[in-house]
Amino acid sequence: MQDPAYAELTARLKRQFTLGTVAGLLGWDEQVNLPPDSVDQRAEQMALLAELMHAEISAPRVGELLAVLERSPDGLGEPLAGGGDHLSWLAPEQRVVVKQARRDHDRATKLPADFVRERAIHSSQAFHAWTAAKAKSDFAAFAPYLEKHVTLAQHEADLMGWGGRAYDYWIDQFDPGMSSAAIEELFAELKAGLVPLVRTITASPVKSATRLLQGFSVEGQRAFLHEVTGKLGFDFRRGRIDVSLHPFCEGSGADIRMTTRFDENAPLDALFSAIHETGHGLYEQGLPREHAGTALGMNAGMSWHESQSRLWENQVARSRAFWRSFEPRLRACFPTQLARISSDELYLAINAVKPGLIRVDADEVTYNLHILLRFDLERRLFAGALAVRDLPGAWDTQMQELLGLTPPDAARGVLQDVHWSAGSFGYFPSYCLGNMIAAQLWETARSALPGLEDDFARGDFARLLGWLRTNVHALGRRHETPEMVRLVTGRALSPQSLLRYLHERYGSLYLH
Ligand code: ZN
Repeated sequence: MQDPAYAELTARLKRQFTLGTVAGLLGWDEQVNLPPDSVDQRAEQMALLAELMHAEISAPRVGELLAVLERSPDGLGEPLAGGGDHLSWLAPEQRVVVKQARRDHDRATKLPADFVRERAIHSSQAFHAWTAAKAKSDFAAFAPYLEKHVTLAQHEADLMGWGGRAYDYWIDQFDPGMSSAAIEELFAELKAGLVPLVRTITASPVKSATRLLQGFSVEGQRAFLHEVTGKLGFDFRRGRIDVSLHPFCEGSGADIRMTTRFDENAPLDALFSAIHETGHGLYEQGLPREHAGTALGMNAGMSWHESQSRLWENQVARSRAFWRSFEPRLRACFPTQLARISSDELYLAINAVKPGLIRVDADEVTYNLHILLRFDLERRLFAGALAVRDLPGAWDTQMQELLGLTPPDAARGVLQDVHWSAGSFGYFPSYCLGNMIAAQLWETARSALPGLEDDFARGDFARLLGWLRTNVHALGRRHETPEMVRLVTGRALSPQSLLRYLHERYGSLYLH
């Protein structure tokens, strides 16, 4: 029989989760449908929902239930905060749920209300300051806001008991179990292999010509993209895809809302954005629905989420096998636009590599270097080894070292990303860790599923999706990031799979 305290806790977690799905839907609507003069009401709706969600998870009753569940069965032991052996009387699955609930409850209760309010107000002001500073390429105008964001981020870590390890605290928010020191080691190894590869590709006489792809009607693109994402396994009976300025994926497995954007002269952008978001959507659709709201039905963290989007976008959809199946379909949709483009030219355009200044426009090879740069700067900022005012110089030095480029202005350099304006630190590494996990999963899946790419060539992705469902999605958030990598792939997280994959794919294209 289920413990009544446990049953009450999960019922409360489910309410919190359901409120979150309402907020997600309103956020989706804001970016997809909202009429311009309706933003004020939407802001009020979102603020009220945030308040309700905070009240749910911080409720004193949740604290009482956690204390009961964390106490030893004889009732004598003192409740201990933060998980550990004292949870051993619970079933292993219950332990996972209680630990995550403790984590969320502590975060919601340990931060004083006036601190939370101050940070919310500052985030809003800093976002507007960043928008204006970026428009004028004026880093100095944004610097004081960023300085305050760093101070607030450090203060929060102190309040949560991570004093002196503020950057680790933030990394752990996105990827439980990861640390700055561990990432530093992984990224150094990646850098040593990746910088020479990018230099060689850049020096190659082989050049891709994406500008050949012109005049692809939005209607045609939309139809093709629906066909592709449906074949990958996205369930359109519990999800949909729309258009927004910035592509994203929102919602839960029961109702996924993805977006993409269309440009008649950049058809690969819409397609690959959609496939990327589909990877996120497939993950959410594969999480155990019966556990929605608890850690057992929750994604494993940002790196794991990103590994799913990158695996489908890159390892799968940029492969020769994938295009053996879809190239004839694309040509049938766009016969005139593709009439003078050979298969090799099309495949090269799909796998174009060109160092650039802007992270969000980067190809899958150079993208990682953009993340190495941001991680290094964030790490030094939080270690007190770099001052905010010195960021532009440090940015440009790293950009030259990693990508051989110098930004002509701050808008295309240190001011390009929205993350720091929102006080979001420790998030960037997830993108690159996600690429590493994707490559490691790819090696594991390929050896577990012989002939996998023959499936792709037939437009069949069911075996890969089934493997991910069983080996990744079904796990929910049972394990911390590094532990889950070891469990699923049989090896510790390492950049070597990613380097092997990039050499294999891009070596055959660019290095003859
Ligand atoms: Zn993503």
